[in-house]
Amino acid sequence: MENLKFEEMGLSSQILKAVTDMGFEEATPIQTQAIPFILKGKDIIGQSQTGTGKTASFGIPCLEMIDPDSRKLQAVILCPTRELAIQVSEEFRKLLKFTENIRVLPIYGGQPIDRQIMSLKKGVQVIIGTPGRVMDHMKRRTLKMETVKMVVLDEADEMLDMGFREDIETILKKIPDDRQTIMFSATMPKEILELSNNYLKDPEFVKISRKELTVPLIEQIYFEVKEKMKLEALTRLIDMHNPRLSLVFCNTKKRVDEITLLLQGRGYFAEAIHGDLKQAQRDKVMSKFRNGTIEILVATDVAARGIDVDDIDIVFNYDLPQDEEYYVHRIGRTGRAGRTGKAFTFCVGREVNRLKDIMKYTNSTITKQKLPSLSDVEQSKADLFLKNVQDIIEEGKLTKYLKMIDSLADEYYIADIAAALLKIVLGDAEKKEEAVVTDEYSPDDEFIEMNRGKFVTVHINAGKKKGIRAKDIVGAFSGESGIPGSMIGEIDIFDTYILADIPAEYLKDLFKGMKDKRIKGTKIKLKIADEEK
Ligand code: ADP
Ligand code: MG
Repeated sequence: MENLKFEEMGLSSQILKAVTDMGFEEATPIQTQAIPFILKGKDIIGQSQTGTGKTASFGIPCLEMIDPDSRKLQAVILCPTRELAIQVSEEFRKLLKFTENIRVLPIYGGQPIDRQIMSLKKGVQVIIGTPGRVMDHMKRRTLKMETVKMVVLDEADEMLDMGFREDIETILKKIPDDRQTIMFSATMPKEILELSNNYLKDPEFVKISRKELTVPLIEQIYFEVKEKMKLEALTRLIDMHNPRLSLVFCNTKKRVDEITLLLQGRGYFAEAIHGDLKQAQRDKVMSKFRNGTIEILVATDVAARGIDVDDIDIVFNYDLPQDEEYYVHRIGRTGRAGRTGKAFTFCVGREVNRLKDIMKYTNSTITKQKLPSLSDVEQSKADLFLKNVQDIIEEGKLTKYLKMIDSLADEYYIADIAAALLKIVLGDAEKKEEAVVTDEYSPDDEFIEMNRGKFVTVHINAGKKKGIRAKDIVGAFSGESGIPGSMIGEIDIFDTYILADIPAEYLKDLFKGMKDKRIKGTKIKLKIADEEK
């Protein structure tokens, strides 16, 4: 089944505009199947893995169903945890960007209940909450279920695992029978089916099955990165591997445009391709890509379907794809016609779990690698350059240049001349390295020079609450950066941060040594305390 376009779903113009604004190019498989049923008012059970877009699958039809003229509660979304409740309500807010008069409120434990009661009194049509807190409000009669037309159990399997079954049943019993009931889950244990037998009416079962997928022989590698390091990671890998043609995949059109601009800003020959481009523009981009005027094509999954280029060296999954099938399609763009190809995937935080699913279903191994450091990149550039030099020497035809060198050769060693030339040519890379190192994590030379002989106060991003004590700081600092424990000055421990006095001379080693390190399990970030940031 082809994925639907959101335009084909008969959505209101406000929601459609929001979906476009969110950069969604087409519905994901679960959305394609679930949204039409929910819009028709049917009960459904939807099953698909994490990250496949289940929130919008119920969010879009739920918001379409709300009557904005009534201030009464109309939909209840139950989520297993407070984090998920917040996430879902953020997605709802985005969907409501162009809609007026629909109010959505997340309610979960840990937030003062009085505040929630005040917000509820203002009239909220949709609540997104954890079962426990929703029950609390029901008991207090601050939530009245009589007017509710739709209930969604999001991540139902997880809610059951967390022991919410009884609460869920109590809530469902309090909601009028003529409601629409929707259940989404990544897995379908027996208990879920029992729930659905008891509380859903003639439900439609929508399952995105995980097909057996095979991937061609491609070197598959992933890198664990932070979201804000992705661009740096991408450019390092491109610089390191020097691909002639590469394809960078993002999940939305918006991202594609953003990344393309950023790459262009850094001097790469990159262009975007996505569904908003007219056919003529697309053809133009593609022909530039084929003849090598563009080296990097940034694309959405949809747009990439039309791409027919054989010799792509590297496919980057800048965003982890929403579906295993997408992954296979994406990486299948390289390694064609017997060539060797590489697929590099960026993975943020818990996305690693989805990557494991991809490995399982494609029956292939994606190997973790560390991102090349700036000096690796420089080394590889230098190697490439020297290889080039060798080739040119072998080729000969250097008379003209030998004559130019002659005039210098009287005065200087040939090796020095060669080194100076190399410095001119590769100098750019060195400057770039310094710049990045300073603004990323290290106080610059000027700052250190200014404070030479003095102590500088360093701010550490965690403190007493994380169980960190002075001796942990001394241990970590001396262990990771070689600064002698006796050289560390006063250490002041506060609840959420720590200030430590460090001789300026040791700052560079300290910042370098502590980068990405943990103390008592907490990832440590250092900054100069009185520096305004
Ligand atoms: P799930 O609930 O299945 O784990 P989410 O609903 O949290 O997945 O969606 C995962 C991510 O995918 C979110 O960032 C969401 O904004 C994005 N997303 C959802 N639908 C689409 C779509 N049609 N196109 C692109 N991105 C989408
Ligand atoms: Mg979800």
